[in-house]
Amino acid sequence: MKSQDVRKQFLDFFESKGHTIVPSAPIVLKDDPTLMFNNSGMAQFKEYFLGNGTPKSPRIADTQKCLRVSGKHNDLEEVGIDTYHHTMFEMLGNWSFGDYFKKEAINWAWELLTEVYKIDKDILYVTVFEGSEEENVPFDQEAYDIWKTLIAEDRILLGNKKDNFWEMGDQGPCGPCSEIHVDIRSSEEKAVTPGKDLVNNDHPHVVEIWNNVFMEFNRKADGSLEKLPAQHVDTGMGFERLCMVLQNVQSNYDTDVFTPLIKEIESITGSKYTIKASNEAEEKVNIAIRVIADHVRAVAFAIADGQLPSNTGAGYVIRRILRRAIRYGFTFLDTKEPFIYKLVEVLSTQMGGSFPEIRIQKSLCANVIKEEENSFLRTLDQGLILLENIISNSAETTISGKKAFELFDTYGFPIDLTALILSEKGLQLDEAGFESELQKQKERSRAASKVKAGDWQILIDDEDEEFIGYDHTEAKVKITRYRKV
Ligand code: ATP
Ligand code: MG
Ligand code: MG
Ligand code: MG
Repeated sequence: MKSQDVRKQFLDFFESKGHTIVPSAPIVLKDDPTLMFNNSGMAQFKEYFLGNGTPKSPRIADTQKCLRVSGKHNDLEEVGIDTYHHTMFEMLGNWSFGDYFKKEAINWAWELLTEVYKIDKDILYVTVFEGSEEENVPFDQEAYDIWKTLIAEDRILLGNKKDNFWEMGDQGPCGPCSEIHVDIRSSEEKAVTPGKDLVNNDHPHVVEIWNNVFMEFNRKADGSLEKLPAQHVDTGMGFERLCMVLQNVQSNYDTDVFTPLIKEIESITGSKYTIKASNEAEEKVNIAIRVIADHVRAVAFAIADGQLPSNTGAGYVIRRILRRAIRYGFTFLDTKEPFIYKLVEVLSTQMGGSFPEIRIQKSLCANVIKEEENSFLRTLDQGLILLENIISNSAETTISGKKAFELFDTYGFPIDLTALILSEKGLQLDEAGFESELQKQKERSRAASKVKAGDWQILIDDEDEEFIGYDHTEAKVKITRYRKV
């Protein structure tokens, strides 16, 4: 089943169960002081759970663009190394705002997976919250009893507070969750360990696909729980992981969500992606290709939603992701010229149907990425040589924060990139030393100009400057000019 049909069937299914289908909220959040990027489907509905405002329908479903690269959810270090965590991914979700609860949510999840998608019941495991005396939250007997009518009891596993209890913060709505995991190991792999021992254990072929949260409590300031007057359901399913299961492959990167991007990377760079690397050199190339295929999505979608790379805040997160991809290409695929920007065309063809913003903004995305590649490639080479020198002149396994700061300041090496390169060589970084250098510099430049060099600045339309692309505001397409300063 093609990924497009997987997405469509999810939405059609929940529409048939009375849900209103809504578009994804932007990936970049402009007015939430607690969050830079949308990192889950529920973020755009948060206020409803807190009792502020009423949703347009008590039943909603959608696919949400998510980015998990900062704050509480930061998967960046896993991305590309493993085959099932992305920076940007789609989260399919269905919600009940004070409407249906556990019985319907669980039964529908099961119906969708086993009857619509026809996933074999024998590869599924579910988890139920075991309860916590210390926190004064009970075992989720209700969910357990519902699951018992659908799946063999030895496939219902009890989970702890970390995996199976969801809280918005120290106070406020919270509740137990029930997760669904798939075991897509080969029969040889299965002969070694029982699948249930691998659930929530970072096995690449025993992975969580769907989380169903049942918001039934309110945590009060004194830490005690009370029943919420209205109970809610909040679910999130990883779209790319679901495609992996339905397309009978063992990595998200072997689904049609990623293969067109990977093919394009192969054809531009001449490097080959191997489904199963047979040696370390092949695995390094694989990781680099996965990183680039993943990161271009995050960066392009962020730009399409209005977040240009910059030196501060959310823009710096995006710049760091892109620089990480550029450096993986440079080191492991031997790419010395900009090329990541060329992938935007493929992305637009492939995702433009469900997410028109990427189609409408494709020239802006490509132009910004190309310019960013150009400017980072200009210094990357020298910076890497300098880092090599630092490493070979250091007798210690921990590299000084001052030297790392020089790389950051002069060559634009984000600190996490330096840390990554060092860790590839079995070395560490003196992060505290780096922070103190950074602090000193901030103090020095406090009085300096507000516009940081290297930022993208919006120009007024009649200024005579380089044209970079289109900016999309609602239905009206207007030309915005950007200048790199
Ligand atoms: P995991 O334990 O695998 O890190 P999670 O428990 O952090 O996942 P949730 O917050 O429960 O994930 O999100 C709901 C669903 O979104 C997950 O069941 C998974 O299918 C998907 N998901 C979560 N993080 C990622 C990611 N970084 N890339 C792709 N899919 C993800
Ligand atoms: Mg996670
Ligand atoms: Mg999990
Ligand atoms: Mg989860």
